[in-house]
Amino acid sequence: MADLIVLLGPPGAGKGTQAKVLSQDLGLAHISSGDLFRDHLQRKTELGILAQGYMQRGDLVPDDVTISMIRDRMSNPDCAKGAILDGFPRTVPQAQALDAWLADSKLGAVRKAPYIKVSEKALVERLSGRWSCRAAGHVYHEKFNPPKQSGKCDLDGSELYQREDDKAETVKNRIRVYFEQTTPLIEYYRRKGVLAEIDGEKPIAEVTEELLASVKNK
Ligand code: ADP
Ligand code: AMP
Repeated sequence: MADLIVLLGPPGAGKGTQAKVLSQDLGLAHISSGDLFRDHLQRKTELGILAQGYMQRGDLVPDDVTISMIRDRMSNPDCAKGAILDGFPRTVPQAQALDAWLADSKLGAVRKAPYIKVSEKALVERLSGRWSCRAAGHVYHEKFNPPKQSGKCDLDGSELYQREDDKAETVKNRIRVYFEQTTPLIEYYRRKGVLAEIDGEKPIAEVTEELLASVKNK
């Protein structure tokens, strides 16, 4: 049975930042739906072209294409031991599709769903100062987690850029979409007994500690 962890939380909560550390520490694959879409967009695949408009507006890409992209990714051998899901599921139908697929493929079920809680005010500040690396999606913040050398990723030396959808108007829509379509997942996973609430307002290293304690507590 695979070990599956779903990271919940609004855009800017720190899911990507923490998923990178957790996946290293636990030896699990890191699957970021946003990174997968951005990769398709860069390669101008059919899926990337379809997703582009939704992403630019800060809307969700339709469930059917998102689900099939993640299913595909999860059938990769690097997921045999398990995975940290970051940004997926984002709607109740996505969560139901994931559960149905896990049951069918005998992979088990989601073991833990840590919910990284951060206030709306902090999210706006985090997203407006976020810098992401071109090569592998490593994330920095100009104030809270600056790179050693401005504009360059500490880990792979690639260029850092500011995401188009981190502009103030798009951020507002992304947060609205989160409240409307993704917050029902908090109750969904609470009812399954796997939700863990994490204080995401603390410094990055302290959030990591809290998360690790929560996911290692089987
Ligand atoms: P998400 O994947 O949930 O959208 P990210 O991991 O990309 O969020 O983090 C958003 C921004 O906030 C990044 O610039 C990151 O460096 C910064 N950040 C992440 N966690 C914290 C934290 N605990 N305190 C301050 N800034 C943080
Ligand atoms: P993220 O990198 O998680 O902030 O995602 C960036 C964008 O990709 C989102 O604003 C959506 O347009 C799209 N996206 C990522 N994950 C999903 C998902 N699970 N369902 C639908 N759209 C998604």
